[in-house]
Amino acid sequence: MPKYVYGFTEGNKDLKELLGGKGANLAEMTNLGLPVPPGFTITTEACRRFLAGGGVPDGLWDEVDKHLHAMEDGMGKRLGAPGDPLLVSVRSGAKFSMPGMMETVLNIGLNDESVRGLAAQAGDERFAWDSYRRLIQMFGRTVLGIEGDRFEDAIERAKRHGGVTSDLELTAEDLRRLVRTFKDIVKDETGREFPEGPRVQMRMAVEAVFDSWNAPRAIVYRRQERIPADLGTAVNIVAMVFGNLGMDSGTGVAFTRDPGTGNQGVYGDYLQNAQGEDVVAGIRNTIPLQELEKIDASSYRELLGIMRTLENHYRDLCDIEFTIERGKLWMLQTRVGKRTAEAAFRIATQLVDQGLIDMDEALERVSGDQLAQLMFPRFAGHARLIPIAKGMNASPGAAVGRAVFSSERAEELTARGEEVILVRRETTPDDLAGMIAARGVLTSRGGKTSHAAVVARGMGKTCVCGAEQIEVDPAGRRFTAPGGVVVEEGELISIDGSTGEVYRGEVPVMASPVVQYFEGAGDTSDDLIQAVHRVMVHADERRRLAVRANADTPEDAARARGFGAEGIGLCRTEHMFLGERRRLVEDLILAVSGEERQAALDALEPLQRSDFAGIFAAMDGLPVTVRLIDPPLHEFLPDLTALSVKVALAGEQATARDRRLLAAVKRLHEENPMLGLRGVRLGLVIPGLFAMQVRAIAEAVAERRAAGGDPRAEIMIPLVGAVQELEHVRDEARGILAENGVEAAIGTMIEVPRAALTAGQIAEAAHFFSFGTNDLTQMTWGFSRDDVEAAFFSRYLELGVFGVSPFESIDRGGVGRLMSIAVEEGRAARPDLKIGICGEHGGDPESVRFCHDIGLDYVSCSPFRVPVARLEAGRAAL
Ligand code: ADP
Ligand code: MG
Ligand code: MG
Repeated sequence: MPKYVYGFTEGNKDLKELLGGKGANLAEMTNLGLPVPPGFTITTEACRRFLAGGGVPDGLWDEVDKHLHAMEDGMGKRLGAPGDPLLVSVRSGAKFSMPGMMETVLNIGLNDESVRGLAAQAGDERFAWDSYRRLIQMFGRTVLGIEGDRFEDAIERAKRHGGVTSDLELTAEDLRRLVRTFKDIVKDETGREFPEGPRVQMRMAVEAVFDSWNAPRAIVYRRQERIPADLGTAVNIVAMVFGNLGMDSGTGVAFTRDPGTGNQGVYGDYLQNAQGEDVVAGIRNTIPLQELEKIDASSYRELLGIMRTLENHYRDLCDIEFTIERGKLWMLQTRVGKRTAEAAFRIATQLVDQGLIDMDEALERVSGDQLAQLMFPRFAGHARLIPIAKGMNASPGAAVGRAVFSSERAEELTARGEEVILVRRETTPDDLAGMIAARGVLTSRGGKTSHAAVVARGMGKTCVCGAEQIEVDPAGRRFTAPGGVVVEEGELISIDGSTGEVYRGEVPVMASPVVQYFEGAGDTSDDLIQAVHRVMVHADERRRLAVRANADTPEDAARARGFGAEGIGLCRTEHMFLGERRRLVEDLILAVSGEERQAALDALEPLQRSDFAGIFAAMDGLPVTVRLIDPPLHEFLPDLTALSVKVALAGEQATARDRRLLAAVKRLHEENPMLGLRGVRLGLVIPGLFAMQVRAIAEAVAERRAAGGDPRAEIMIPLVGAVQELEHVRDEARGILAENGVEAAIGTMIEVPRAALTAGQIAEAAHFFSFGTNDLTQMTWGFSRDDVEAAFFSRYLELGVFGVSPFESIDRGGVGRLMSIAVEEGRAARPDLKIGICGEHGGDPESVRFCHDIGLDYVSCSPFRVPVARLEAGRAAL
C-alpha cells in the first residue's frame, strides 16, 4: 500500500506532484524553521484513487488518524474535544495553483459543545461563535453544496436586526443566533442535521476537496491553463490559528515584489480581526500591508524578514498568506507567485543582478507567450467602460477603429487614412486584404483557431472572435449587440484581444514599447526594454534552431529582418495573383490554345519577377524559400453562385467572357478542393505555370546579382506525395535555372502523410524539406481545417481527445511522429538535407521546442512571431 499521508516535516518543495504546491511548500517552510502551524498532507495519489471510484482508498483513514494523533499529542489538544478543542482546516492544493477553483474548510472540530470550550480557552465568546458560524457556512457551501447566498442573506438579516453595518459589530449573542439559523438552513436544504462529530466533519471535508477537483469551474480553468485533467489534488490538514481573536489578530496576503511590475517593495493587504477568505472576499476594506508596522511592529518586521528568506530560498518572487494570532505570526502558504509578462522579464534579470540566478535560468523563467503579450498594443485604462459584447480573446492587443463590414470597405477607408475594425460573421481567405488593412478583426462566429483568429495572430493583429451576442448584418452594414445597441458602418468601436471585450466608442491605445525596441526605436533606458534585450541576446546565444519568417512582400520581409529573421522560410506566391492580376489569371484559365496560355503567362511573369526581386533585395544575403503556387485555381475565379446569378440575370446580354468564366468555374469546381487539383498537381497539369514562376525567380536572381546584390533563392514545391511528382518539376526547373545561369536549391514541403513516409526516396530529389504542418495536421487527422473547429473541437477538448487543438500546437504522437520519420529517413538518404517548418506551428512555443528536439535546422513563422520563436528556440536549447 502506498504512503498516502506526509507530515509537514516529511515533505519538501520538490514534491509538488505528490503533495500539491501548497503541501510541498508548507513542508518546505516548516523545514526552513518558519512558523507554520502543525499539519500533514494527503497525497494526490489518494485523490486519484478516490476519483477512480470506490470511495477513499483502503488504509487512508488509519493513516490520517495516526498523523492526527501525533499532532494532537504535540499540541496537547484533541480534535473537537469539548473542553479545549483542537481545530483544523482542510485545504485543497494541486500541483499547479488553481486559485479559488477548489475548496477549503476552516474551523473543523467545532460543534455545540466544543464551541463553549473554545470560548472558555480564548476567553472570548464572540470569537468562538464567529468561528462556528464560519464552519457551518463553509461546510454547508462546499461540502453539502448549499447555495452560498442562503447564508449571506441570513448574515444580512442579522445585521439589519442588530442595526449594524459590519459583521464585526455582530455580538456573541447575534452570532449564536446565526449559528442556529445556519443549522436550520442545513437541515432545510439537506434534510439532515449539521454533522457534529469532529472526525465525521473532517472526513466529509476531505472527500469534498477530492471531489472539487472535478467541479465545473476547475475543469474550465484547467482547460484554459492547459493543466492535465488527471493529476488530482492533495489535501492539507492544518491546525487552526486564529486571526479573528480581536484587533491584535488578523490575516493577510503579500508578495515579495510587485507582481504587476516586478519592482521591489512591500506589497500586500491586511485585515484585522478576520479569518481566511475575508481578505480576498472584499467583505471589509483591507489596509495596505505597510500599515501593519503601526499596528504590530514586531510581527511586521518578522514578516519582512521571512519574505526575504523566502525570496532568497526560492530565488524568485513569492506570494504568501499569513495570519497573526494575538501578536504571533503564522505562515499559512507560500508559492512562487504568478506575475505579468512585464514583471517576469524584470524579475528574471533583477535576480541575475542580485546573483541569485544565472542568465540560463533567467531565460527559463520567461516565455514566448509572455514576450508575445508585451508585443501587442494595449488599452490605457479602460476599466471604467462597460463592454457591449464579449467574445474570445483570439489575438491580444487593443484596436480602435470605424466598424466596416466588408473587405472592400476596409481597404477603401484605410486608403483614405481612416483606421477600421473589420466586422464579419466569420472571415475567409477573401477577407485577407481587408484584414491586412484593418486595425483589428471582430467576428461573431468561430473559435480560437478559426480563420480570423489564426490569421490575425499570425499578423500580430488584434482579434476578438466568436462574439456570439452580436448579430452581424453585412448587407445592412451594421451589427447589433444586446440591449438594443446598433452599431452602423463608420462608428468607432474598440476591441480588446486580450480579454475579448468589445466597446462602443474610442478607448485610448498605447503602442508597445517592446515592438518599438525590436524595430530599433525603443527607449533603451527603460528597464523593461533592457530586460527584454538581455534575455533576447542570451536566447540568440543559446539557440541551435535558426528562425526565419513567412513573408510575401518586401515590407514584411524587411520587418521580419528587423525582428531578427534569418531568412524567409515561406514566401507564398498566390497572393501575387490577387487584386488587379486576377484578370490575368482568369485569362490563363480561360486559354484554349497554347498561344493564348503563353500570352497570359508572359503577362504574369514580369509582375512576379519584380515581386521576387523586391523580396530578394529586402533579404539580401539570406535564404528566401519561394513556394510555387499552391491553392486550387478556382480560388482565383469568381464565386460560382454569384456568377451564375449574374449570367442568368443578364440573359442574352451576358458577355462572352462571363459565359466562358462560368463554364470554367463549373469545370474547375471541386467537391473537396483541399484534396483536389492544387500544389505540385497544378504544375504537372497546367503546362507552363510552374515554368513561368521558376523563370521569374531565376530572372529576379540574375537581376539582383547584376545590381550587386546577394540573392539566395530556394524553390519549394508544395503538396508532393511521391518522389516522381517532384522529379518532373525539378527537372524542368533545373533546365530553366541553367538557361539563366543561376543556381537555386530545390526542395519540397512535407505536408502529405505519404511524403513523410517516403521521405527517404523524396530526399534523393530534394535539397531541403519544409514541414507544412497545417496541411500535414489536416491530412493526418482527416480534419478539415476550416470546418472542424466550429463543428466539434470544443466537444473534443471537453472529452480530452486532445488537450489543445492540433492546429495550435503540434500533435507529437501523430503528426510529430510523421515528422520524426521524415527527418530520420530524409537525413539517412541525404545527410546535408536542410529541414525546417513553415506551418502556423512555427511560432508556437511548444511546437518550437518539438522542432528543436527532433533536430530541425530552422523554424519559420509570421514576422511578428519571430522574436517569440527566437526566445523559445533559446529556451529549448537549455
Ligand atoms: P486557497 O487555495 O483558495 O488559497 P487556502 O487553503 O489557502 O485556500 O485557504 C484560504 C485561507 O484560509 C488561507 O489563506 C488562510 O487565511 C485560511 N486558512 C487556511 N488554513 C488555516 C489555518 N490552519 N489557520 C488559519 N487560517 C487558515
Ligand atoms: Mg491560499
Ligand atoms: Mg499546404
